[in-house]
Amino acid sequence: MEWIHPMPKIELHAHLNGSIRDSTLLELARVLGEKGILVFSDVEDVIQKNDRSLAEVFKLFDLIHMITTDHQTVTRITREVIEDFALENVVYLELRTTPKRNDSIGMSKRSYMEAVIKGLRAVTEVDVEFCNSQKLHNSCDGVGRKKIYVRLLLSIDRRETTESAMETVKLALEMRNVGVVGIDLSGNPLVGEWSTFLPALQFAKDNDLYITLHCGEVHNPKEIQAMLDFKPHRVGHACFFKGQDWEKLKSFQIPVEICLSSNIITKSISSIDIHHFDDLYKAKHPLIICTDDFGVFSTSLSNEYSLAVSSFGLGKRETFSLAKSAIDATFAEDEVKQQLRLIFDSASPEYV
Ligand code: 5GP
Repeated sequence: MEWIHPMPKIELHAHLNGSIRDSTLLELARVLGEKGILVFSDVEDVIQKNDRSLAEVFKLFDLIHMITTDHQTVTRITREVIEDFALENVVYLELRTTPKRNDSIGMSKRSYMEAVIKGLRAVTEVDVEFCNSQKLHNSCDGVGRKKIYVRLLLSIDRRETTESAMETVKLALEMRNVGVVGIDLSGNPLVGEWSTFLPALQFAKDNDLYITLHCGEVHNPKEIQAMLDFKPHRVGHACFFKGQDWEKLKSFQIPVEICLSSNIITKSISSIDIHHFDDLYKAKHPLIICTDDFGVFSTSLSNEYSLAVSSFGLGKRETFSLAKSAIDATFAEDEVKQQLRLIFDSASPEYV
């Protein structure tokens, strides 16, 4: 399946702090170890472990945040994540991250996000187009430098209060001119209540921000129904959906971000052959193959496509058309969607 790597791809569900290179995490942890802030050998084992339950994933995120949450590191990991996706031939990336406040180092949600933007600007390996106002170049002429379109989603962590969630939405509205297009609700699905986040999410929607929700990661039928009734623009995971949830999802035509390795490793789905990808794909429901956290789950977008191909029998042409169909589910402006169609069209002779 060597044809998957060069194929243009679109990534719509990637968490910044879940997509850090192991080598970077280990390097940063070693420095904190030398300063006596943590015990490096403990951290090394945790970072290099491959099997993680969903609960362990959230413990790991607390550790990652301890290692990465300063302005300089946020800038560095953003730059590296963009470079890594570009190397995978991702041509459009929606990167999500939770704006964080850390008074002890003078970090506000805004300054956290400014560090992310600085990371986008710091990429030198490829051209990064992230501002709506940036001039669009025809990127399918086959010459010149590689280019990646990047848009940002600000995540609300389920541990947050309504006020804190609202602060994130207001920040997203203020940062629209630097590529922020929407809001994500994520964080430990066993924590927090839908009613806490609804006012902020409704405010975001009323102000034309796009919304994607982590939905149905655990058994919680009431919340799944309430989330679907909210009519988000996309949902992620959908592992614990039952009959009426599927009916509603399909009747509302809400695209699903599918993260195969994440779902299998966290045992949200017991085995890949019973993954809901198959049913949704056969039903021609809009779905997008994504990585979730390529660092935490030791994967890549090419690897996720390979998994789909080998597990569900997709051919080359079908895989290409699935990758291209992700354009419609992006939160990008129409001009960008148009550019993406040109990119896929120019690659299509290789795949059809
Ligand atoms: P960050 O937002 O700090 O850049 O990325 C890490 C955060 O994304 C985690 O702390 C968590 O809130 C969220 N996240 C990453 N992966 C998952 C996942 O699989 N499920 C959920 N619900 N949240 C996740």
